[in-house]
Amino acid sequence: MKIIDTHCDALFRIQQSKRRMISKEPLRFNTSPELNTNLAYLKKGEVTVQFFAIFIMPDIPSDEKWQHALEQIDIFYTEILGEDPEMKHIKSWSDIDQLQDGEIGAVLTLEGADAFGNDLTKLRLLYQLGVLSIGLTWNNANLCADGIGEPRGGGLTTLGREVVTLNNERGVLTDVSHLSLQAFWDVMELAAYPIASHSNAYKLCANPRNLRDDQIKAMFERDAMIHVVFWPPFINHKRNDASLDDLLRHIDYLCSLGGVQNIGFGSDFDGISSFITGLEDSSKYQNLINVLLKHFTEDEVKGFAFQNFLNHRPKTSLK
Ligand SMILES: [Zn+2]
Repeated sequence: MKIIDTHCDALFRIQQSKRRMISKEPLRFNTSPELNTNLAYLKKGEVTVQFFAIFIMPDIPSDEKWQHALEQIDIFYTEILGEDPEMKHIKSWSDIDQLQDGEIGAVLTLEGADAFGNDLTKLRLLYQLGVLSIGLTWNNANLCADGIGEPRGGGLTTLGREVVTLNNERGVLTDVSHLSLQAFWDVMELAAYPIASHSNAYKLCANPRNLRDDQIKAMFERDAMIHVVFWPPFINHKRNDASLDDLLRHIDYLCSLGGVQNIGFGSDFDGISSFITGLEDSSKYQNLINVLLKHFTEDEVKGFAFQNFLNHRPKTSLK
């Protein structure tokens, strides 16, 4: 069954391997089995659209962040897109409809506005380079908003509001995963296209990165998508292991809050250090599908796997 996955950190991990290389070879999208998301794994797992996040570690000095973003974008163009003709750049949401059998769509996203600071010229360049989804923060604060790990718990700044407005104009998703509670509610008021690209249910696993019931209900009332994440500490409270059934409990719970048509997958592969047993990389995606098919109808599982996202993606995007 086809899969759409709305979050992975392969760009970050490949960049890290290049920067830290001494004698060891850097990781490569086409050939490195150490990656959780590589070309062979995506094909084997039947992933047809994979989102690739630009992510900058918070400890990188401000004046070096843009360089890190450029390095990851370069990896996206040269390595993800540049070496295999079956990898297709999704520059606007309707490009997904043009994918042929065997082709894999690659979506460039931004996790944390830190990359552009307060420089809207850089933000406009990111749009032009194809960024189609922006999470304003990682866990820390930046000039746009506070992340969920920031004790201050602030909402959107004036700049953050401007970015959401620009996203709205362009059909770019505004990602609420990682936002502080206040910033979440601010985004829900302002964003035309909110998404939670990689978050689970707080009720089942009380990690601050997960979404509370009132947030989940607000998302579903807005007809927005929540994509479940595969990192065990977001599935089972303070544990580093999880089964496919444990993830299924989160999907089941989201359904009980009315989300059967608003649930998708956002693995967080290459950004996570422990794994669901049987779902250790993208090649194993069909194991999850087989478990889901025992509990849900085929149409419901197709919804989770790809159709719900297709139904809810922004209708227009500026080229
Ligand atoms: Zn993340």
